Amino acid sequence: MQCDACRHEAVVFQPYSGKHLCPAHFLKDFEAKAKRTIRLHGWLRPGDHIAVALSGDATGTALLAFLVKLTTNRRDIRLSAITIDTGIRGWTDIEQTEKTAAACGVDWFCGSFAERYGTTMDAMVQQDGPKAACRACRVLKYDLLGEIAQTHGVTRCAFATTVDDSALEFFSNLLSDTVERTLFPFEVTGKTRIPAIRPFMNIPAPEVIRYAELHCGETGSCDTLSPSPRSEGISRAADAQAALDTYARRHPATKFALANLAGTLAGIVAARERPPSCPVCGELITGGECKSCSIRRKFDRGTVP
Ligand SMILES: [Zn+2]
Ligand SMILES: [Zn+2]
Repeated sequence: MQCDACRHEAVVFQPYSGKHLCPAHFLKDFEAKAKRTIRLHGWLRPGDHIAVALSGDATGTALLAFLVKLTTNRRDIRLSAITIDTGIRGWTDIEQTEKTAAACGVDWFCGSFAERYGTTMDAMVQQDGPKAACRACRVLKYDLLGEIAQTHGVTRCAFATTVDDSALEFFSNLLSDTVERTLFPFEVTGKTRIPAIRPFMNIPAPEVIRYAELHCGETGSCDTLSPSPRSEGISRAADAQAALDTYARRHPATKFALANLAGTLAGIVAARERPPSCPVCGELITGGECKSCSIRRKFDRGTVP
């Protein structure tokens, strides 16, 4: 199939736009979208130190590669990468993330659940079951990432969130009766409240992975890429993802629609008063106590400031 913008062979098809694109036109389209998102939100300011959350999957690698390219001539902006080893066997390849960061020429920092909390995700799943472990992981991972970021003077943490992630988050929130998470998004990194940025939030996951592959061809570090194992079968989110994927296969605009609706709803309720939030961490309080802080108490070994 030919590129819709030139005569070269297309490598990407965008089902939502009906366009076929060659590598050059795909990169142009992709980077323009991510730049527009950054500009709209004012996510890049002089003096920023941006840390990319790098878990070793293709999307994180793509985000790091993109930000490196974007800030090549910006001496006023510092980039680094942070990896959290949650202790899921076979998930995060720590050495590989370190190599990826080195190949991109940025500082790399790392932390682990084992060191910080004295446990691993594998152990937590065994002890408390997958549901509780997932809930705890969500809190502990961002807390640790934020702590490391704070130590190094990071001003924003960058996450490779895609349209697919936002759509799934919203869909899961609807199914789990936690829609307040969508209505009142909390765009910070754990307890430290370092702002979170998501330059790929308007780009579908398959395109982000394609971008990583194309970039990787340039840097020769293709080994770092593996499909995101987040869905690796334990949580309610995995079931929601399967259902959503099945539906979206025949209706390609579905995930965009969900992700956009989530943003629209949050915009509508933003003008209203925020429901009660935790005085310690700022998250929404449901059922009389802060669920995130009760997780923190459980896993805290007394070293948190
Ligand atoms: Zn082209
Ligand atoms: Zn709290």
